[in-house]
Amino acid sequence: MRTINLVILPGDGIGPEIMEVAKKILNKLKKIGFFDLRIEEALVGGASIKDSGVPITEKTMNLAIKADAILFGAVGDYSFDGLPHHLRPEAAILGLRKNLSLFANLRPVIVFNELLDNSSLKPEFLNGLDLMIIRELTGDIYFGEPRGIKIIENGEKVGFNTMTYSESEIKRIAKVGFEIARSRNKHLTSVDKANVLETMQLWRDVIEVVSKDFADVNLDHLYVDNAAMQLVKNPKQFDVILTGNIFGDILSDQASMLSGSIGMLPSASMSFNNKGLFEPIHGSAPDIAGKNIANPIAMVLSVAMMLRYSFKLESAAEKIELAVKNVLAKKCSTGDIHKKGWKILSTSEMGNMIEKEMEQLC
Ligand code: NAD
Repeated sequence: MRTINLVILPGDGIGPEIMEVAKKILNKLKKIGFFDLRIEEALVGGASIKDSGVPITEKTMNLAIKADAILFGAVGDYSFDGLPHHLRPEAAILGLRKNLSLFANLRPVIVFNELLDNSSLKPEFLNGLDLMIIRELTGDIYFGEPRGIKIIENGEKVGFNTMTYSESEIKRIAKVGFEIARSRNKHLTSVDKANVLETMQLWRDVIEVVSKDFADVNLDHLYVDNAAMQLVKNPKQFDVILTGNIFGDILSDQASMLSGSIGMLPSASMSFNNKGLFEPIHGSAPDIAGKNIANPIAMVLSVAMMLRYSFKLESAAEKIELAVKNVLAKKCSTGDIHKKGWKILSTSEMGNMIEKEMEQLC
């Protein structure tokens, strides 16, 4: 049986509470016989700063580098807001992205039928929506040099950043995009701003070249302003959206709201050889931390993504997703997505119920 070597980083705020649920689900799948598990757990973010003065220690970084995959809760603790950026809790996630070359960020946007009316869009535009946004995560204007704020001759300050992508960076994210589109509905929409930015003209040219190896995938291109409009006008026209770092940052947050709840959406940040870091898209939610009321579903669905993308355990991933769907069909939820007539569950009760549903599915 396959052994999964996992590093678990619960983090701050609600991170440890939702991670307990993730561990419960993983242990259930192990017990059923899907895989064997070797877990190392470590502090990260504010919890690590309190313990050792840094958001992530070298030891923890090395554990993450050696692991097959990383499950990440959330980081963020306002008591460290006064620290310089590189010492704040959020620096841990940036360090992990850099050291592990996590260059492909995958954010599925799935709308559960039972939650159709949670979104601000009309249900008929969302019913059956199953969209994947792929954002390049380690290049673009966020990392390009030169950057800074300088004073020019007349004494005025000028801020500047550099949008940059190399052919090889575009090629590697394009391959991820086409392969994922191939495994889904074979439709890839590449989003750029090729009409005004040279970097984006290169993006489009390289995507076209890579598409020759994926003749079975239907490729189209959209400018980012039109993509933002289409996402709200008719989101079901999309299957996979592929885009750069800054456009992906904005479009993926916009798309997440189609589902109506931040507590439902997982994400993956992939490197080479299927290695990845899997985390909910939400933060540490300090306002509800320690109350056992956080929604653990985004964390649980992140486990499903890990099993699918890092370990190719599709059937285990599907079991988790179906168990979540079944719980919602029984009109049970945590308070954030609660509706009239539904039963409110605590974080741990939601974990128990998902586990019970999985037992019945196996
Ligand atoms: P947040 O996502 O933590 O919370 C926003 C709102 O959504 C809050 O009202 C919160 O209670 C609610 N919420 C979030 N997750 C929920 C869940 N699972 N169940 C129920 N309700 C949930 O965003 P924020 O308040 O802007 O940030 C809080 C901290 O998290 C900050 O320090 C921020 O930097 C950090 N953060 C970390 C990550 C990460 O770890 N990847 C991502 C975003 C924000």
